[in-house]
Amino acid sequence: MTVFAGLRCAMCKTEFPAEALYVCDQCLGPLEAYYEYAAVRRTMTREAIADRPRNLWRYRELLPITGSPRTGFDSGWTPLVRAGRLGEALGVTELYIKDDSVNHPTLSYKDRVVPVAATRALELGFDTLGCASTGNLGNSVAAHSARLGLTCYVFIPQNLEPGKILGSAVAGPHVVGIDGSYDDVNRLCTQVGDRYGWAFANINLRSYYAEGAKTYGFEIVEQLGWRYPRHVVCPVAGGTLLPRIGRAFRELREVGLASGELPRIHAAQAAGCSPVINALESGATHPEPVKPDTIAKSIAIGNPADGYQVLETVRGSGGSGARATDTEILDAVELLARTEGIFTEPAGGTTLAVTINLLKAGTIPTDESIVVCITGNGYKTSNVMADRLPEPTRLGRSLREFEAFLAGQQPATRTSV
Ligand SMILES: *Cc1c(COP(=O)(O)O)cnc(C)c1O
Ligand SMILES: [Zn+2]
Repeated sequence: MTVFAGLRCAMCKTEFPAEALYVCDQCLGPLEAYYEYAAVRRTMTREAIADRPRNLWRYRELLPITGSPRTGFDSGWTPLVRAGRLGEALGVTELYIKDDSVNHPTLSYKDRVVPVAATRALELGFDTLGCASTGNLGNSVAAHSARLGLTCYVFIPQNLEPGKILGSAVAGPHVVGIDGSYDDVNRLCTQVGDRYGWAFANINLRSYYAEGAKTYGFEIVEQLGWRYPRHVVCPVAGGTLLPRIGRAFRELREVGLASGELPRIHAAQAAGCSPVINALESGATHPEPVKPDTIAKSIAIGNPADGYQVLETVRGSGGSGARATDTEILDAVELLARTEGIFTEPAGGTTLAVTINLLKAGTIPTDESIVVCITGNGYKTSNVMADRLPEPTRLGRSLREFEAFLAGQQPATRTSV
């Protein structure tokens, strides 16, 4: 079943063996997994996939491992929610939420990329798995390492939300808080990986890790009945997810699982950290690094590792990008919860807020199908919502008190949006 053929430079196309390599020694381009698509066509039919377990490994032929999956058997296959009330509030006819806020087991899209990186780490003989994280990646690396019995190091900037730090610590890794930004953490981890020979999910195993993100795109199309949506709005941090959704869409066409026009992919960033949007506006091919300052900490990456691919994918798909302010982000978190009952973190709020801004600008027409990528869970960052929401009404225990309270209320209506 192995049709994974090796690594290839995305820029100069030089081929490399499938090891813990991630940059081309000829041109410094990123290395990507490649596959024998003719062989994939033979085994990966719609019927074959329909019979497989509902997890990310149902697209096994297009994932870069050589043996059997080792973890992630309950990861992926998250809901594609038809968002009727939110669509109505925004005047959109066909709106979907791809909801990775409920991805197993650590409630973010990172539970797609980590199972692939962790499986590959075992195949390559590593006993230590680490990562440079803005929070969610650390949670996922810690959880999958725990389950596999791997030694684990999670490196984070010190200023993360308490819920994100706790979500890693509970699984028992070494959590290392660095006095610096994510970009400083990433630089340190590159040195640590080289010096100690450890696997770092998003650094020296990045070529494998990134491929797991394709499953987000595969699922969107399969869940729409093997149909492409017209628009996808995706948050951008280090730039793993957005280009892999684009790659997933192209691969499905390549292996004959979907046909028709490829979706337009739009990038969402917070106004306080928008290197990719800056580049889309200036016409640059590589984002200029920025210093992040936003409430959306999980996407606060000033120097995105895959920024070049993000720009290429957005431009190549006929997509666009926009920013959202911290206030717009929190308003969108509330709107999503009040219309669809989905509680996302500020990264998800950014994606929805940017979708709203693109609708307002007319960049996305209201009568075309739209998928909004919700990538993380709001319970981890409940601190950011606390002072926006009313305190519970406090009453004694008698019915009389409740009746008095109710008589003083406005007639009950659903919260308008
Ligand atoms: C990691 C992350 C992203 C996107 O990150 P990329 O590095 O661009 O793939 C988006 N949302 C959340 C909640 C994340 O944790
Ligand atoms: Zn190269």
